[in-house]
Amino acid sequence: MKSTLQSLYLLQLLDTELDELRELRGDLPETVNAMEAELKMVEQRIEECDEALKKGAVERSQMEKESLELIAKIDKYKGQQLEVTNNKEYDALTREMETAENTIASHEAEIEQTMQRADELKTSKTEFETRHEELVKELEVKHEELKEILEATNEEEMTLEANREEALKGLLEKDLELYTRIREAKGKAVAPIRRESCSGCYNVVPPQMILEVKKNDRLFICEHCGRILVSEEIAQETSI
Ligand SMILES: [Zn+2]
Repeated sequence: MKSTLQSLYLLQLLDTELDELRELRGDLPETVNAMEAELKMVEQRIEECDEALKKGAVERSQMEKESLELIAKIDKYKGQQLEVTNNKEYDALTREMETAENTIASHEAEIEQTMQRADELKTSKTEFETRHEELVKELEVKHEELKEILEATNEEEMTLEANREEALKGLLEKDLELYTRIREAKGKAVAPIRRESCSGCYNVVPPQMILEVKKNDRLFICEHCGRILVSEEIAQETSI
């Protein structure tokens, strides 16, 4: 049991160090992730603008081509009208010309719309490109900052993590679960008794319990804060 208590306290020391290291990095890794995600999104938007512009241009040139063909047809119908010999044929050509003119008019309206849409798309694209440029510059700085911090902390983190793995070997599943549960709720899960008090919550520990804890043969929980109590002896004997 003593070794379990030592492992628990060691785990606490290692986790505290790891917490401090991670705090040193602050929210920089998350910031960089968020910026990278935004950059991807902006790149996608630029691509979408390009695709929409291309599609609009194709549609527009198709309509222009068709309109030109229709104009040629109308000319041809006009010529044919001069040569027809009866009203029926004449009226039929008039109807053909009207249909062609209507189609040309609707193409013109649509071309006008796609040109407006193209202007809007170009404006959006320029905005996205500006943001893209900003993000690339900002990310360059942030990546450099992050690299420096990671270089400064990675080696230490790896050592701490390795020691943590080692400490875990000395613990049963249920002990680790208890530790994890308290750590999640309280930040620190293990509190050595110092000056007859729980060093986690500073409440006085009853003398009888102090005597029991000192035996290092059972797991005691502080009745005030719920942390695992260990003796001062365990705290003194255990270090990273
Ligand atoms: Zn306590």
